[in-house]
Amino acid sequence: MSMNRQGRPTTPSTLAANQTDAESSSGEETFSGHKGLQHEEGLIFERGRSDKTGVDLADPLPVEPRLGGLARQNPIGLPGLAEPETVRHYVRLSRMNYAIDSGLYPLGSCTMKHNPRLNEKMARLPGFGDVHPLQPQSTVKGAIALIEMLAGYLMELTGMPAIAMSPKAGAHGELAGMLAVKAAHDAAGDTDRRIVLVPESAHGTNPATAAFAGYSVRTIEARADGTVAAQSVKDALGPEVAAIMLTNPNTCGLFEPEVVDIADAVHEAGAYFYCDGANFNAIVGKVRPGDLGIDAMHINLHKTFSTPHGGGGPGAGPVVLSEALAKFAPLPFLTSENGRTRLVETLSEAESLGADPFGRLTAFHGQMGMFVRALSYMLSHGADGMRQASEDAVLAANYVRAGLRDVMSQPFGDQPCMHEVLFDDKFLKDTGVTTLDFAKAMIDEGYHPMTMYFPLVVHGAMLIEPTESESLASLDNFIATLRNLAQAARDGQKQRFTAAPRFTPRRRLDETQAARQPVLRWTPPVQEKEAAE
Ligand SMILES: *Cc1c(COP(=O)(O)O)cnc(C)c1O
Repeated sequence: MSMNRQGRPTTPSTLAANQTDAESSSGEETFSGHKGLQHEEGLIFERGRSDKTGVDLADPLPVEPRLGGLARQNPIGLPGLAEPETVRHYVRLSRMNYAIDSGLYPLGSCTMKHNPRLNEKMARLPGFGDVHPLQPQSTVKGAIALIEMLAGYLMELTGMPAIAMSPKAGAHGELAGMLAVKAAHDAAGDTDRRIVLVPESAHGTNPATAAFAGYSVRTIEARADGTVAAQSVKDALGPEVAAIMLTNPNTCGLFEPEVVDIADAVHEAGAYFYCDGANFNAIVGKVRPGDLGIDAMHINLHKTFSTPHGGGGPGAGPVVLSEALAKFAPLPFLTSENGRTRLVETLSEAESLGADPFGRLTAFHGQMGMFVRALSYMLSHGADGMRQASEDAVLAANYVRAGLRDVMSQPFGDQPCMHEVLFDDKFLKDTGVTTLDFAKAMIDEGYHPMTMYFPLVVHGAMLIEPTESESLASLDNFIATLRNLAQAARDGQKQRFTAAPRFTPRRRLDETQAARQPVLRWTPPVQEKEAAE
């Protein structure tokens, strides 16, 4: 048997032999390591051999090397596999991946919604799919027009006068917004503002962004009902405060009732209001953030406007800006004169238009494929459809809340939520089952866990966001499963939780060690004889 340097057998047939006695005697293990039609799968380097090849190539004709001595002298060491072996490798791995296309994905704050296939078709149109960021502008006018159209709709939906389309994700949009805030203070000669206010329920990216932009964070406590009091913000404001970063609806799934008072107080103190717009899915077509007095807000196109994300694809985080911040938007940006739109790419060009960009955020102008998908989602839904998506998302979350509130516990009392419902671990008290165990048992039942232990203000938090994509039957099955689990925990079936997941290709992993000491480099197998020495 050959092993790699981590002591892992390198051929599937030996995997079963590696199981502990307890596991194999349970009768749940197989000789091959495969189970049912689920295949064990090693790394591609363990499957293929560098001395093997999947293609037959004629010997190359002798050539005069022109690499100036830079030609590789050693074998490259890539695994050689035949085409079907390669295809199987990736298909098997893909079957170990859970996705919104395989089942409900109730990850709160992340808005894992169905991505209509129409979006994919549009994004693959050659005129969009094949554009290259270094093409001359004159050859990509259609793509530029599409970006402008999408930008227009995003400004319309948010009620904001300006937008920067280049940020590549929500967190990147936060950085763009906060650098615009900084540039605005600097331009006003107001350079002593060093503090950014961040409520304690905020997503980790908010304090991280503030720190990255050079600010210190002052934390604002939440009220007993999970929202932020205008008075707490007023108490924390002062001439040293540059901005507040507030999420609305917030990460407890609640709309901030005093958001307008907060905005007024922030402006009165000479600071700016950054809104984390990751939860925009709850309010599209219902509320325009611009009307609430915000100065900047990122929109996670990959959440609200459907593009697959997380393991499934890239993000895009355009940031809308108020009049006060508009001219500090980063390069590159779009400008329109006499119905002709072009991309402004240089500082001198920007200055000639009266703009004062804080700099260049990215090499190129955003994620074309995401832009096409988001616009396709908007146009196929229409204004009324987008509003209905928000309403349905909120309805679905409240349906889940109503279906579970007698068996699970809500931290802020029995109040309606927005697009996501937050539970805590009080209902697991004295059961010996933790939030983590509960989540692992959900995996055995075929559900991706909800967001766990976030927001941090709630003990053992479980944040469930079903989105508008789920049918009534799907929600009912989900509720029935969670009710069954909650009952099992209360009935003392602790093993079902602490031993979970039992039916996955891998069981509980040492997540701490994986994060702290990740093994990122594959080392070639050591033969058994050597290994034994
Ligand atoms: C997802 C999310 C972010 C970060 O967005 P990315 O696109 O992942 O960078 C920030 N805040 C909240 C509340 C989020 O849910």
